[in-house]
Amino acid sequence: MNSVERTKEVKKKLVKVFPRDIVSVRNGRGTAYGWVEIRIHLSRLVNCPEKPDHGCGWCPKWGNCPIFKEIRIKGYRQVEEAIRGIEFNTYPDDMNRDQPEYTIDID
Ligand SMILES: [Zn+2]
Repeated sequence: MNSVERTKEVKKKLVKVFPRDIVSVRNGRGTAYGWVEIRIHLSRLVNCPEKPDHGCGWCPKWGNCPIFKEIRIKGYRQVEEAIRGIEFNTYPDDMNRDQPEYTIDID
């Protein structure tokens, strides 16, 4: 599977779980070449009581908001579950175990 195919596959899986317009999947560049960079803009969907009618991105506690923190943890797990089984490039960690080359960013 080349990186274009892999990116497409990752995106396909993620838009089954999240609305398409908050999903971003890109190939890493430069030193991150071969990596898949996943970003889910979940804060847009969160209606934080601190700032009703705005996403948590407008929350005054942004970054430390307990509501968004919880949603972020859940989102991370949802991403990992959705992309399970896809073949990523790997790198050896310090225990010499293969780790998949992707990053997940929930913002
Ligand atoms: Zn908040």
